[in-house]
Parts: sequence; C-alpha cells; structure tokens
Amino acid sequence: MIRPSTTLLLHDKFGRRISDLRISITDRCNYKCVYCRTGNEGALYGDLAFTDYLRMARVLVGMGITKVRLTGGEPLLRKGVVEFVRELSQLRASDGSKDGDPLDIALTTNGHLLAELAQPLKGAGLTRVTVSMDAVDPDRFARITRVPGGYDRVLAGIRAARRAGLWPLKVNCVLMRGFNEDQVIPFGMFAREEGVVVRFIEFMPLEEDRVWSPETVVRLEEILARMAEYRPLVEIPHARSETARRYRFDDGIGEIGIIAPVSHPFCGHCSRIRITCDGKIRTCLFSVWDHDLYAEMRRGASDEEMAEFIRGVVAKKEERHHIGEPDFVPASRTMVHIGG
Ligand code: SAM
Repeated sequence: MIRPSTTLLLHDKFGRRISDLRISITDRCNYKCVYCRTGNEGALYGDLAFTDYLRMARVLVGMGITKVRLTGGEPLLRKGVVEFVRELSQLRASDGSKDGDPLDIALTTNGHLLAELAQPLKGAGLTRVTVSMDAVDPDRFARITRVPGGYDRVLAGIRAARRAGLWPLKVNCVLMRGFNEDQVIPFGMFAREEGVVVRFIEFMPLEEDRVWSPETVVRLEEILARMAEYRPLVEIPHARSETARRYRFDDGIGEIGIIAPVSHPFCGHCSRIRITCDGKIRTCLFSVWDHDLYAEMRRGASDEEMAEFIRGVVAKKEERHHIGEPDFVPASRTMVHIGG
C-alpha cells in the first residue's frame, strides 16, 4: 500500500487538501424525489464490482483520504454492501503524521431499507449514517418521493440506526419552494423529539426535471427566520471544512444544520472528490467532465500509476461553482448519476 508522507498528501492547485472521498455504488434508486430524479430514467451508468471500488479506495486512502462516504443512487439497493463496508473498514487512514487510524466510513441513504441493514452495517464497521427525508408527514413525503408508503419505513430506519449506535445520526432535508418550505418548524420539533441532527439543504440545479430557478431555493436566512418563530437558535462554531452551519436550540435540546451551497458557497474549503458508480472521478458536483479511473485500471495501471493519474485529475479541481451566475453551465451529470 502507498503510504502518504505529508508532502504526498493530495492537494489541489488552490492548496485545498483532499481528505474526503464519496463513492457512488449505483445510480439506481427506488425513489423519484422531485428535486432529483424524474423516474423516467433508472440507472444510466453500469455499476462496478465492489473489488474495483475497493482498489480505488485503497489507493486513495494511501494518498491521505480519511473519510469515505457511500452514496448513489440508493446505495442500499446494492447486494453485498455490508461486506463492502467490512472490507473498507480494514483500510487504515493516515494523514501523513501518524498511521493506523480507522477510516471514517459514512453512508447517505433514503432509509427505505435501513431498518433491516442498520445493525449489520454497524457490525461491519460503518461509522455514521445520513438519512434523506424531506417531510415529516406521510402524504407530503409521498408527494416528494413520488413513491407511496415510504414514510413509515424511513422512520423505522432512522430509529434502527439510532439503536444500532450509528452516531451522530443526521437527517438531510432538501427544501424546495412549493413542496416543503413549511416543514422547517416540524423538522425542528422532529430533531428535538428523535435526537437527530436535521440539516436543511438548499436546492441545487442538479435535478433531472430541470425545474430549478433562484426562486425555488429556500435560502439560509429564510430557514433561520422560519425556525426562529418556533424557538431561538444559537450558532455552534463549526470546522471550516464542514459543509453545514450548525445551530442548537436555546434550551440545549436539539441541533439543526443548514447547508447553503447556493446562498453561501463553501467551495473555498472543499475537501471532496467523488467516484461515480462507473468508476469516473469527479472533482466537483458541477464538473462538466469526468476522469476515467476505471479505464486506467482496465489497461493494467499499477497502484502508483493510478495515484499519478489521480494527482493529475485533482490538480484540475474547479475553484468554485457558478450557480446563479450568467456563465453557469449545467453539470454533465445530474445528482443521482454523480452521487450526492
Ligand atoms: N439515495 C440516497 C439518499 O436519498 O440520500 C443517496 C443519494 S442522494 C442523490 C444524496 C443526497 O443528495 C440526498 O441527501 C439528497 O437529498 C441530495 N440531493 C439530491 N438532489 C439534490 C438537489 N438537486 N439539490 C440538493 N440536494 C440534492
């Protein structure tokens, strides 16, 4: 295994250290959320064998990746995901100064299959889980996911994850005007009652339906103002690389976060790269090209050659996104085909 020295850790040309890897293990999904997938298209790109993702992850961990998040599509649709987590958990992270820390392995899921899988995933070495949930009432939930009957399953999944000790447990809610902006206070109550961190995400132009406009975005200030009608919030200091601004309620019970890539971009502190389900590296959600790491593997590249390829790709990482600007060019893939 390649072991990073501090000089060999992955950095881009803007000096950002790349420590966070997201792997999409499928672009299939069983939900058709209005802000994400039309439902007319299923998987567009083929999945790789888990052994291929594992080799990519091993090389990248050797370059200083310390966090791996599995995503999709819906990652829990992939058979063998528990075993894959077990294999990943054997890798040891290194930031160049010391060796041997366990990798931080997280999962983003819609939660539909989580009730059955939370305990096995925890047993295999999963550290944390984030569940996407965009309403706290079953009818509204079905209107957003465009699949009936999911709400109770997702709630059961969240509770199973908590019982399994997958902690901290985060619930992501994309707010989209006309669908769920009135869910802010109900989610504040939910965070307090269920003991989860609810994070509101501003809607980004990464959906298949192409309905995004600046007016559809429910911005950070509006979310804060709506929540303040319920209870005062106190901001919690957060790490610069953290995507969410964090707040607790004034009585100390319950935490929420706001991820505001549209109104308050955090590209300057971005530490992420992504591998798509078909083995391409993406340096930004809004990239207009992919870099074919899997093709390098197929042509027989050694680990060192793969590392060299990755280094060249990371050097091209975009400085920032251009959402809402006149020169904005839509990403070459939508969210479900990148991995959120
Ligand atoms: N299926 C899993 C899930 O539902 O969490 C993982 C994949 S999903 C694409 C990952 C995350 O991206 C989810 O939290 C989802 O809400 C978010 N997402 C999808 N489309 C988005 C958009 N257009 N703007 C902001 N967030 C989006």
